Amino acid sequence: MRAAIEVSKELDVALLTKVYPSRSHSGAAQGGIAAALGNSESDSWEEHMYDTVKGGDFLNDQDAVEEYVKSAPRIIYELEHMGCVFSRTPEGKIAQRSFGGHSKPRACFSADRTGHAILHALHEQLMKQSKTIKIYNEWYMHSLITEGNRCNGVVVSDIRTGAVEVMHAKAVIFCTGGYGRVFKITTNAFASTADGVMAAFDAGVPMEDPEFVQFHPSGLYRQGILFSEAARGEGGYLLNGKGERFMEKYAPSRMELAPRDIVARAEQSEIDEGRGVNGEDYIHLDLRHLGEARIMERLPQIRQLGIDFISVDCVKDPLPIQPTAHYSMGGIPTNKFGQVIVDGEGTKMEGFFAAGECACVSVHGANRLGTNSLLDATVFGERSGKSALEYAKTVDFAKVNEGREKTKVLKLFEDIFQRDGTESYNQIRDEMKVEMMKNCGVFRDDEKLKVCIDNIKKLQSRFKNGKVTDKGKLFNTEIYEIIELGNMLRVAEIIAVAALARNESRGGHYRTDFPKRDDVDFLKHTLVHGSEEGLELKYKPVVITKHQPAERTY
Ligand SMILES: Cc1cc2nc3c(=O)[nH]c(=O)nc-3n(C[C@H](O)[C@H](O)[C@H](O)COP(=O)(O)OP(=O)(O)OC[C@H]3O[C@@H](n4cnc5c(N)ncnc54)[C@H](O)[C@@H]3O)c2cc1C
Repeated sequence: MRAAIEVSKELDVALLTKVYPSRSHSGAAQGGIAAALGNSESDSWEEHMYDTVKGGDFLNDQDAVEEYVKSAPRIIYELEHMGCVFSRTPEGKIAQRSFGGHSKPRACFSADRTGHAILHALHEQLMKQSKTIKIYNEWYMHSLITEGNRCNGVVVSDIRTGAVEVMHAKAVIFCTGGYGRVFKITTNAFASTADGVMAAFDAGVPMEDPEFVQFHPSGLYRQGILFSEAARGEGGYLLNGKGERFMEKYAPSRMELAPRDIVARAEQSEIDEGRGVNGEDYIHLDLRHLGEARIMERLPQIRQLGIDFISVDCVKDPLPIQPTAHYSMGGIPTNKFGQVIVDGEGTKMEGFFAAGECACVSVHGANRLGTNSLLDATVFGERSGKSALEYAKTVDFAKVNEGREKTKVLKLFEDIFQRDGTESYNQIRDEMKVEMMKNCGVFRDDEKLKVCIDNIKKLQSRFKNGKVTDKGKLFNTEIYEIIELGNMLRVAEIIAVAALARNESRGGHYRTDFPKRDDVDFLKHTLVHGSEEGLELKYKPVVITKHQPAERTY
């Protein structure tokens, strides 16, 4: 939406989403959006930059990080002026709370519904621009239309009717979100299924750093639903089965507010070593000492989620939690202007831009800090919008072979409809999720990853022998779920293959057989390319400007 608003200042925009703009996963964001406003303690963009780079285990491209954190305060005030209601300090300034890995209270928030507040403020701006922005709700993007190294539009279909259409465009911006749904336990919405990264991949764009998947420490036990880090930011404790605040052992100076990769591994170690609560595979998030008044002021949604989903009221009882797949650091490679890059040399795909979680700029490196993602989506939404606008003003619509482009998608539908196999797609989806959780999750090693790749490949071939039950055209959600599953099975393999090749531990990627970071061999970004023979791995250097890699302790 932020990108569309930028383009609509001068040109017409079609904004297409398979849900509704205000139901995008961003609306589930709870804890906050980072900016060094310095409203409760002195702060600076320099400190925000250092925390981000250290949090990312020095894999971040620092030229991009610098511009990103410098833009943050302006972006917050712009959102405020658009009507986003932020929580306040007693003096009436935008309130800021602590978050994992940030050395200063930097998270601007609207109670624990920050994403919702931002999304609706932006949506109002879309309404205001309704002359230039046309919104296509419940339309599905299938593929990019490219000719040589230029992007000329997308092939889409209307979920309501199944009608396939070609959308010509001078420029295309992907803001298609993450792909946490490949894991069994995840915070991500049903729509987070890698469609964008896979459509780019099919058009010859590599995938950058897919092995870096963030596991959030506080997912509701068995369901993955998020209890925001804000709960710990406000002072919540993590307790093992013995009632100990075990973070003392793992990150004595930051305790519960160490970066997520470190807290998630600490939890998993406690569970694996038999110190889960009641000997089970969960631990406790304890908020009781905060008191009802503070919980209702700062964390009302978390309280309600506990009551609604497991009948636990966090005012009276601790919440059972476990690590949950949360964020995709990897994605479509872009430069700091939001332009999509197709190789290690910075070659652009003309007319193609990406921003938000589907993109890899890479401002988060190997691990994203909490509240840095809403900021990423907004900053690079604006930047990609600006770049797309400038580009679109200089080109004409290209000729597109509509028939050929449509046929590809019609054939995909036809193939699925005609398959009369024996396999259940739901079963395949469930097995993929369990496999990724078990063998490509918080702790990985050579053996597990090889098993994972092997099993994912088997699932890919079973997928070709699936059986669809709904053969109708109208609102056939089954067929879209099958297409999404196809994308997820491919991205699952890409994640595991990149993880197997990275023989080190860094940020969100932890190999028990290579527990140390290895800057000599692996201070580099992965680029996974598609080729005739299968996946091909290449690498590109990390942009280091101000901060040389140092040991990451908290
Ligand atoms: C529960 C939760 C809490 C979070 N809390 C925070 C937080 O407090 N602070 C923070 O900074 N970050 C937080 N994050 C992360 C952050 O919210 C996301 O990374 C960010 O909002 C992603 O924004 P996006 O615009 O890239 O994608 P999304 O908001 O996921 O939007 C993707 C859009 O692409 C559309 N789309 C995808 N594929 C297709 C297709 N094939 N055809 C048509 N449309 C398609 C979808 O319909 C959707 O509209 C949280 C994430 C989760 C899951």
